[in-house]
Amino acid sequence: MVKKTAKALVLFSGGLDSRLAVKLLQEQGIKVVGIFFVLPFGGGCCNDRFCAFKFSQEQGFKLYIVDCSKGRNFQEYLAIIRKPKYPRGTGMNPCIDCRVFMLKKAKQLAKKLNADFIATGEVLGERPLSQNMKALRIVEKEAGLEGKLLRPLSAKLLPPTEAEKQGLVEREKLLDIKGRQRKKQIELAKRYRIDFPNPAGGCLLCDKAFSLRLADLFKHRKKITPRDIELLKIGRHFRVHGKIVLGRNKQENDMLEMLKGDNILIVPEKPGPSALVKDKRDVEIAKEMIAAYSKYGKGREKFDKYRIDLVAETKNKGKGERER
Ligand code: SF4
Repeated sequence: MVKKTAKALVLFSGGLDSRLAVKLLQEQGIKVVGIFFVLPFGGGCCNDRFCAFKFSQEQGFKLYIVDCSKGRNFQEYLAIIRKPKYPRGTGMNPCIDCRVFMLKKAKQLAKKLNADFIATGEVLGERPLSQNMKALRIVEKEAGLEGKLLRPLSAKLLPPTEAEKQGLVEREKLLDIKGRQRKKQIELAKRYRIDFPNPAGGCLLCDKAFSLRLADLFKHRKKITPRDIELLKIGRHFRVHGKIVLGRNKQENDMLEMLKGDNILIVPEKPGPSALVKDKRDVEIAKEMIAAYSKYGKGREKFDKYRIDLVAETKNKGKGERER
């Protein structure tokens, strides 16, 4: 029997699993509040705060948005990505550290809001790196939430949490979903009549090309700004004396102009890639690159030795672990 109206803070990514976690708790009469993270490299299912907000409005719960794409949160998050305590996935994604970061923030908010417990949409075994039994325990412990973190979708496969023991949540009504198949979740979505976004997009830290660019940035820059990260998301990246970025299409050429800052921007007279050059000693080689990478240009392989993300583009097209 549930003793009182409990209040839960749900880590809400916008994806199907966290939507179901919200519904399962609401169904028990628990008051839900959500926390959504805007991460500089993506991460939520759609990573779209408006989509997440729309769902919260439809389902009648308040959503707190933590913006980590700038300011202090950005620097704090970046420090974790730069030097994680636990192993990375197939790219630069340190999923365990990232989850701990979010849960620590959630813990602070839960305290402020007087929430009785924190819940997530995690499913045992759904993600190889961050949702195996060992990882779930580590995350809980590191976030200072041992025995206090409820995963409603897999709760019956996990030890009872304090909220269950205290009768704030009825364990019997929680689920025992396990693994990567999402059949049960899709059935539940139908039962609850809820929409959910496609799990496309995801976290750029799992992308190998992006990860190589980021590793190079960490190697060469101590202080990193949100604009540096935006620049990593576009173009071909080379390192000669400094960095050269070539646009791959008109949209990227325009973006380079926007992100120019105090760097040198070379815009070719004939159609071709623009080049953003960080070190003036690289201007001549950047012009040669522009010619080689223009529509009918030749001899690109001569610049391969400067490419930061070449391996990823030619060999590693696979994606690593992605959270939804
Ligand atoms: S994929 Fe990993 S690193 Fe990226 S947002 Fe998800 S938990 Fe964080």
